[in-house]
Amino acid sequence: MTDPVLDVRGISKSFGGLKASDAIDLDLRPGEIHALIGPNGAGKSTLIAQIAGGLAPDSGAVHFAGRDVTALSTAARARLGLARTFQISMLAMEYTVLQNAMLGALGHRGGVFRFVRSVMRDHDLVARAEAALEQVGLQDFRAFRTAELSHGQRRQLEVAVALTLDPKAFVMDEPMAGLGAEGSQQLVGVLDRLRQQAPILLVEHDMDAVFALADRISVLVYGRIIASGTVEDIRNDPEVRRAYLGE
Ligand code: ADP
Ligand code: MG
Repeated sequence: MTDPVLDVRGISKSFGGLKASDAIDLDLRPGEIHALIGPNGAGKSTLIAQIAGGLAPDSGAVHFAGRDVTALSTAARARLGLARTFQISMLAMEYTVLQNAMLGALGHRGGVFRFVRSVMRDHDLVARAEAALEQVGLQDFRAFRTAELSHGQRRQLEVAVALTLDPKAFVMDEPMAGLGAEGSQQLVGVLDRLRQQAPILLVEHDMDAVFALADRISVLVYGRIIASGTVEDIRNDPEVRRAYLGE
């Protein structure tokens, strides 16, 4: 089997007496979408924060791209190619769609805003931004102000911004949240194509999206992974049905 891109080993995190992460093992392999599901308060966002950086585990380790990144900041992990999206919108609403994609690519180089004007003439940067927009299906909106985009299109643009960094893995916390049926469907299409470029660890409540996309599903309940397997495995697991699917 190929080595995982992302490997979480024995992560534990307590808040006072509450074990939000309880000895969690989880990995992400090339080409896959690994969905993490579980009820509210199960500890999904806490786990994502420890993987992406920003929250230090009490014990355990996170390995990414063959390195132990447990002690690294979010920014340092991002520079190694770990892209986290949908936490806070990073988009500049008054800028065009293309400019936002270019600013994303600029961040990769450690550039600063005062260099924006000169870098705007950088053809390589333009080309990378345009390729990313095309990948998420926003090529016809490149000249639109970002404020004019629908909620769903902004999510797609956030994916494009992340893509300009040429990530090795994506970590996404509830990307479908707040999207209508049409927006969700479009984003499902984008994520489905994205997995070839970089695998995705996907926290998502929308079970239609999870069942449509996931190669593997892990179920988190009270800080513990209670089951892990294919869509079929998870759908037929009696403990999962009881604990999470409400049967
Ligand atoms: P999920 O994303 O699965 O809904 P969270 O990871 O947000 O769950 O939360 C897991 C548990 O940890 C919840 O009981 C939540 O109240 C608690 N929790 C999360 N962050 C903190 C924090 N910074 N301080 C104290 N408790 C927290
Ligand atoms: Mg959450």
